[in-house]
Amino acid sequence: MKPRKNKLHHQNKLRLQTKYKPSGFRKDDVLMIRSGVAVKTKTGKFLEYFSKSQRVSVAGLKMGRTCYRPKTEGETREIREMERPAHVSNVAIVCPHCGLPSRVKRGPVTVELPNGRVKTKYVRICSHCHKHLRP
Ligand SMILES: [Zn+2]
Repeated sequence: MKPRKNKLHHQNKLRLQTKYKPSGFRKDDVLMIRSGVAVKTKTGKFLEYFSKSQRVSVAGLKMGRTCYRPKTEGETREIREMERPAHVSNVAIVCPHCGLPSRVKRGPVTVELPNGRVKTKYVRICSHCHKHLRP
């Protein structure tokens, strides 16, 4: 069989298919997990995003237990509670203007610059009230 001429191109194409997908969440965002009975209306701050599995960990929500093994002398074995990451599709951002859990959209918002001119910027907006998520 003839060897593939554009092998490198093919490899690059495959790599692009599994590229990094952004979550749309930023630091200090207030998030809500919308699945599971125990966490349905609770909110917490955004902690970390795992891009490979597309999961988000939210502070104080979706707690799981882990057995902590002693690493230094003097520590004892104990069961600790820590956040478990939830899938992005089940996590919504809480809008600071209307207080509703919403999807992250992008849209134009007019911003006034320090020199007095007005500029339209494309920023993250709330899907309910179309306001800037973090002005
Ligand atoms: Zn809103």
